[in-house]
Amino acid sequence: MTSTVTSVVVDKMAGRPRAPRLLSNNVLPHANLQLLSVIPKDIYQQMTSDMSWITWLAENRLIRNGNQCAVCLQAMALTRRQNRGIGYDWMCQTCSTRTSLKTGSFFAKTRLDTKTIVMLMYYWVYAVKSTNVMLFENITDWHIIVDYNNFFRVECEKWINQRQLQLGGIDLNGQPVVVEVDESYFFHRKYHLGRRRNGSWVFGMVERGTGKCWLEIVPRRNAATLEPIMIAHLLPGTVVMSDAWGGYVNVATINNGVYMHEVVVHAQNFVDPLRQDIHTQSIEGLWMQVYISIFIQKRLLNKAMNCRHENLYLTI
Ligand SMILES: [Zn+2]
Repeated sequence: MTSTVTSVVVDKMAGRPRAPRLLSNNVLPHANLQLLSVIPKDIYQQMTSDMSWITWLAENRLIRNGNQCAVCLQAMALTRRQNRGIGYDWMCQTCSTRTSLKTGSFFAKTRLDTKTIVMLMYYWVYAVKSTNVMLFENITDWHIIVDYNNFFRVECEKWINQRQLQLGGIDLNGQPVVVEVDESYFFHRKYHLGRRRNGSWVFGMVERGTGKCWLEIVPRRNAATLEPIMIAHLLPGTVVMSDAWGGYVNVATINNGVYMHEVVVHAQNFVDPLRQDIHTQSIEGLWMQVYISIFIQKRLLNKAMNCRHENLYLTI
């Protein structure tokens, strides 16, 4: 009798799969993640089970793929924890310490569930109106949306500030990439139209074709101010497309001529009739986008559409 029981126990142990130490063997490299475009349909598909959801979070580097016990320094095991949090915990099989799957991630100190937060990220990226987001996610407190939007903005600011975004250079076919540069004056909103005070100059650069851009508030718009920003953010080989403003007179001689310079004469034509590629329509479009996004926040889109970029308002 005793031997039978023992054999059952042994069989049970042998048949039980070892609790996984990693969520996925397919965590995406950073470079792939930057090129990834995700649509809600793909996200919803992952949400159908707790396991597929946490695997997706790990593969997209939104949570840790594995965890180590702080006491025993051993790899922790994935353990089911139904009806609480994310559905699973990490557990040390030696000392039984449990750790949340959210530890060390963007979600660590958040209260909303991870599925809702990922959807809020998505809505924020696509500037979905807060009233609609409340409806879609069944959130009754408008402040929750505002708080998360601020959280996302701060995280993106950190990311941008951690790396020097570079534009232009030479493309895969060996052709120089065009970057349009321009400055625009943004007014603070509380002042009336036509009263030019308390504003800021913003220097903008946008890569033609990809729309990759860099915007920076500048104290002045002279060569001494603009050139270091161009050197920091434009790769050698770039064709710099600008207007005839004095701040750009030396662009072709920066660092012994690492850039080419093409000048657009705004007063005459936005598109040079002889050289159709000499224009700054990408940067004009960027100013309009910035302008509209500022005004959408203020629910003043109609007014925005009737104004030119010279009348931009800065809300910070
Ligand atoms: Zn332990």
